[in-house]
Amino acid sequence: MELYIHIPFCMKKCEYCDFVSGAYDPGIRSDYSRALIREMEMYAPVFSDIKFSTVYIGGGTPSWLEPELMDRILSSMHRCFSIEPEAEFTMECNPGTVTSDFLQMIKGHGVDRLSIGLQSADDKELKTLGRIHDFDRFLHTYEMARNAGFYDINIDIMTGIPGQSKESLSRTLANVLRLKPEHISCYALMIEEGTPFYEKYRDDLIRQQNGQPTIYLPSDEYEYELYCLARQILSDSGYAQYEISNFAKEGYECLHNIGYWRRVPYLGLGLSAASFYDEHRYTNISDIYKYMELIISGRAPVESDLPISRQEAMAEFMYLGLRLTSGVARADFYNAFDMDIEAKYGKIIRELTEKGLLVSSEGRIFLTPRGRDISNQVLCEFL
Ligand code: SF4
Repeated sequence: MELYIHIPFCMKKCEYCDFVSGAYDPGIRSDYSRALIREMEMYAPVFSDIKFSTVYIGGGTPSWLEPELMDRILSSMHRCFSIEPEAEFTMECNPGTVTSDFLQMIKGHGVDRLSIGLQSADDKELKTLGRIHDFDRFLHTYEMARNAGFYDINIDIMTGIPGQSKESLSRTLANVLRLKPEHISCYALMIEEGTPFYEKYRDDLIRQQNGQPTIYLPSDEYEYELYCLARQILSDSGYAQYEISNFAKEGYECLHNIGYWRRVPYLGLGLSAASFYDEHRYTNISDIYKYMELIISGRAPVESDLPISRQEAMAEFMYLGLRLTSGVARADFYNAFDMDIEAKYGKIIRELTEKGLLVSSEGRIFLTPRGRDISNQVLCEFL
């Protein structure tokens, strides 16, 4: 089982961000940390027999939380839950929010993997995104992390930034590769309703949807070319693609995220955190004041509790598992559902295989490179 803890605080909200995060004042940060610890204590007896195999502290910007609050949260986590000694333990951090003391403190609590949100090495693009850092600040953070003894680092980069060109993406990748991180995530910018970006680029989004030429945003074709370029450069540089958006040096794949795609149960704590266990998907409330109120009154801050039918579980097995380059194993499907994969999905698998989008080999089924290019379309077939 895996453990996720959400820290919803950021120094400033980025223009494109629709994550549950915000720039709250110190009083709220302290109250939230107390509530989060209380939530851990609520769940501790329920999971007392479980040894967690991975921990992921995400956000928001966990590295921006006051060190003494983070120290208390991590101490409480160890007090409440049993973490395997070899567990992968990741914390997200953002450039310009980290100090050497903070890094030493989290390392002392077992954090052994950092995920740093760079997004771009081009200062103009960073400004467009509304990020608080420039590339030099990122370099400083990265150097500090290495000096503090972190030898498993992910760097997040982004494609589809307004104004991004193939040249600027290549420069970003070259700058990142020079640092030799163990892992690189490369996600396309998604413009979500309710964000300043949505307002700013609304007309362009409509043009994009209608297949008309765009002014600021890349067209679908250009976006795809940027993704292919990133994939090519990364694989030429020794980073194997193990998931649609994730690349790693051998042995440095993110086990926590692989767990999500392999339907390993997880407990999520904190604002808006999602959990998956006993074939139920739970989601915590996303209003920070209600979250704290519920916990103070001794109630679990769960907003939704959805049982997963056998049908849905099989569909999840396929569309999550096929995101991984290694795909799904026929034997795993049989072990999970006591049913042959062909009996359930034989027709779809045959059709997608004939179209050159899926391939079967050595008991596994996976997307072909062409299938990966239109993965959303292919994976929808299993829903
Ligand atoms: S740092 Fe991340 S979580 Fe925070 S506002 Fe920016 S994108 Fe959102």
